[in-house]
Parts: sequence; structure tokens; C-alpha cells
Amino acid sequence: MKSIDLTKEKVVTVADLAAAQADTTELLVGENAVLTPSALEFTEQRHITVRRGAKAAGVEKAASATGAGAIQELFHSPAAEAVKEEICAAGRKLWQRQYVDGNGGNISCRIGPNEVICSPTLMSKADLRPEDLCLVDLEGKQLAGGRPRTSEILMHLEIYKQVPEAKGVVHCHPPHATAYAITGRVPPTCVIPEAEVFIGKVALSPYETPGTPQFARTVIPFVKDHNTVLLANHGIVCWADTVTHAEWYAEVVDTYCWTLMLAAQLAPVSHFTSEKAADLLAIKKRLGLPDPRHELKECELCDLPEPGSIAIQPKPCGTAPSLNNAEIDAIVQAVTDRVMAALNARK
Ligand SMILES: [Zn+2]
Repeated sequence: MKSIDLTKEKVVTVADLAAAQADTTELLVGENAVLTPSALEFTEQRHITVRRGAKAAGVEKAASATGAGAIQELFHSPAAEAVKEEICAAGRKLWQRQYVDGNGGNISCRIGPNEVICSPTLMSKADLRPEDLCLVDLEGKQLAGGRPRTSEILMHLEIYKQVPEAKGVVHCHPPHATAYAITGRVPPTCVIPEAEVFIGKVALSPYETPGTPQFARTVIPFVKDHNTVLLANHGIVCWADTVTHAEWYAEVVDTYCWTLMLAAQLAPVSHFTSEKAADLLAIKKRLGLPDPRHELKECELCDLPEPGSIAIQPKPCGTAPSLNNAEIDAIVQAVTDRVMAALNARK
């Protein structure tokens, strides 16, 4: 095993890799170092493992995983085998609850600073066995496992990079939450305590072609402040401290969306008060669950949708809500209609 230490470089170019030789298997770079596309390609072609933040060795078990032998040892360690069982169990639950069809959905677990176990591509989540799972690094390069990794792992990896607390990620297509995602709406808050405590506000990320790096990046603005993101015209993604908990969140959010749809057929949905929402946030804080609303004033805790509305337009992160052309046209039309009606009434 031979490694190149470039931990002092902020940007690693292909020229920096000139020292690589035929037996080079590992490149050590700083936690936040940027590899140029050609440098990444160089490492991929030569099967060189890129190890980030290697100076932090000892923080987590995987930090000691250097070289092919150690990677295999990590991938088959008792801790990793337990994670594989957990991923398979979550996959069966997703399939049983009809949140994944065909080979849809994917699951992953971060087991080290640079190592993630994930489901393979083109397999039903009902049929996953521990030996089907893959090990990838944070750049998506497959380190171990006989089957090719899911193409949607790139989205999971963006979440792990953005949110250090995230250890498990579940992506699926549950029908009720996905129905919201295809209408560009999110469920309101302050309706059901369980959804409030475990999910809180739900975000909506813009549509991109699944499996692409652009798709992976769509979740970046949302995942720090939301554990559940609706993926426009696609499905949902949830992160948590474990795979099991991320799968629970998928269940909670889909049941919440379903219940809202059922309730709306009976009568307008009622909301509990911001004061009661503050009680739930206190419980959430005690459970150690993050929520950006911990920092807000009580009066800001609940979304206030139109009375009876079960679907609200999400606000873009940090900016005022923007209207699309169809919405502007609708407003112009509504104003014109009222003016014309008033003029006609005067005749
Ligand atoms: Zn998908």
C-alpha cells in the first residue's frame, strides 16, 4: 500500500498527483479539500481511494480503514454486518408499506468519516440481503460489495456532507407524500403532535433528473433545517441518527399526508395553537431532536394556511416566496375579473 499525503492542499489538481505510482492505492486530503474533476477521474481510473480528514484518525472506527484489506475488514466488521441487517429490515418495511415499487428507493448508513454502506441499484427493497449491499466513499466511489451501488447515493452523500448528525438516509416514493411533491405543496404544521415532534416543517426541493449530481445537489439548501424533504415530482428523502429512525420518519410523513387528505374530505382541518406547538417543541428538545423552530418566537411556530387548506406552498429557503408565471397570471386575471364585475355593476 502506498499513499500520497496532500492534506495541506486546499485544491488538489491532477498535477499534484504526478507522484502517483502503479502501487499507489490511497490519497489523503483535508476534510474540505476540493478535487478538480480531472484529479477525481485520475483517482477513479487508478482505483485510488480518496480519504478525507485522515488526520482525524481514531475518531471513528472507520478512520483506521486504510487500504483494500482494511476496507474489507471494515465492510465485514460486526458493526457493519449489524448495519447491513438494519438496512435490509428497513427495505422490507418500505416495500410492505408500498413506499417502493420495482427497484425504487434506496437506503444508506454512514459508518465512518468517509464510508457509507448503501443499497445496490436494480434490486427490490423487499429482496435485499446483507451480501447485496455496497460500501462507498463520500465521493460515491465504490469501495466494496459485489453489486453496483445505487445511482441515487449521490443525494445521500450530499446529506452526510451537509449534516454531520445524519447517519441513516432513506429515499422512497410513498404515495401520499409523493402526491404532495407532485403538486408542489407541503403539509402544514400544528395539526398532529407526532408529525410535529418527529418531522416538523417539511421542505420541497426542485425537480432534477434522478441519479444525476444536479439532482443530488437540489437537497443541499434544505437538509440542515429539515429531516424530511419532498422531492418535486419524485418522492421523499429522510435522514436521522439511524436507518431505522429515517424509515420511521418516512412512515410518519406519509401517514400524516394521508390523514390530512382523508380529513379534508370530512370537514376543514383544525390546527392547535402556537402555545401548544411550543409544548411539543420542548418535548422535541428533550428528545434531542433538532428543529430550527427551537430558536423562534412562539407566535412564529405554526404555518397558517388558508382556513381548511391541507397543502401550503413552501417558502424558498431564506427568501421571500416567489410566484411563477401561472400564479401571476391567475392573480392578474382575478383582479381584472373583479374590476370588470364592479364596472358592470355600475352600469
Ligand atoms: Zn427515487
